[in-house]
Amino acid sequence: MKIAIAGAGAMGSRIGLMLHEAGNEVLLIDRWEAHIEAIREHGLIADFNGKEIVAHLPIYSPEEITQSGEQVDLIIALTKSNQLDGMFQAIQSLINEQTHVFCLLNGLGHDDTLAKYVPKQNIIFGITTWTAGLSGPGKAKLQGTGEIEMENIVPAGKEFALQVLAVFQQAGLNPTYSTNVKYSIWRKACVNGTLNGLCTILDCNINQFGSLPVAKNLVETIVSEFAAVAKQEGTNLDQAEVITHIESTYSKTTQGLHYPSMYQDLIKSRRTTEIDYINGAVWRKGQKYGIATPYCAFLTQLIHGKEALLQAK
Ligand code: NAD
Repeated sequence: MKIAIAGAGAMGSRIGLMLHEAGNEVLLIDRWEAHIEAIREHGLIADFNGKEIVAHLPIYSPEEITQSGEQVDLIIALTKSNQLDGMFQAIQSLINEQTHVFCLLNGLGHDDTLAKYVPKQNIIFGITTWTAGLSGPGKAKLQGTGEIEMENIVPAGKEFALQVLAVFQQAGLNPTYSTNVKYSIWRKACVNGTLNGLCTILDCNINQFGSLPVAKNLVETIVSEFAAVAKQEGTNLDQAEVITHIESTYSKTTQGLHYPSMYQDLIKSRRTTEIDYINGAVWRKGQKYGIATPYCAFLTQLIHGKEALLQAK
């Protein structure tokens, strides 16, 4: 299968490298010039669980891919949420009736963005527990293991989704075919919608947040806002289970010592965040359905305030 990775940052490098190592024809698309130059000169160098792997993958900017006339079977979307629309606007020439898109971004509302560019039967959604980091341009840190849950968003897309599943299986990416990926996306959005924003504003790790007397009420209230909006979209979240799942991450032996990705993006790297596609999406959707979501609205605005104070880009 010929595959393009749209957004070859941390996760794009992981998925691209693992698919390439399994023998697929993979090309990377990114706009970060130093990253492009480093990969062209030295290949993508990965610390893969302590072992160095160098993958010589072609990498293009969106302008170059447009001029190249390349066509692919599958585009895997791996930008940050707030960059997805810009990416697809820039690579429209790569998309024809046969092109499928697999969206592995965190967050909500990406189906609306992608439906502007690709027919719904060509769209697959997934969530993943794999993680990745970059230690510099062209250098990926790929530790640990993970899984991917995936499903086509309309029934007509199932046949191709199963082909993608087989390709991912062969690459050791541990995919499973989901019968309700929308539920899992909402469930994961609840985790990110509580821990990401709150740890960032409170400037703490997950364990420190979980130790606060206010943690329980904050989490319960935010999850109840997510659940009310999800219900309008046909997903009935089991709130008690979701809250127990979030609380299970507080322990120092699970993810407690971890600072969520939003904290790392904003506080450490001064980057704008995915808040508009997590709590912000619930706030927007709530307004559409006439559901009050004051905690999500407040947290979204606090994060935007912090982005402005830190001059995040
Ligand atoms: P990242 O910032 O490392 O990578 C995004 C890449 O997209 C960047 O290299 C950027 O230059 C590129 N990009 C963005 N807009 C572009 C455009 N218009 N044209 C060309 N290139 C463009 O982000 P990441 O950490 O890999 O995260 C990607 C997604 O995966 C996010 O939704 C994140 O929440 C999710 N995710 C990440 C992890 C992780 O461990 N990093 C784990 C699970 C899920």
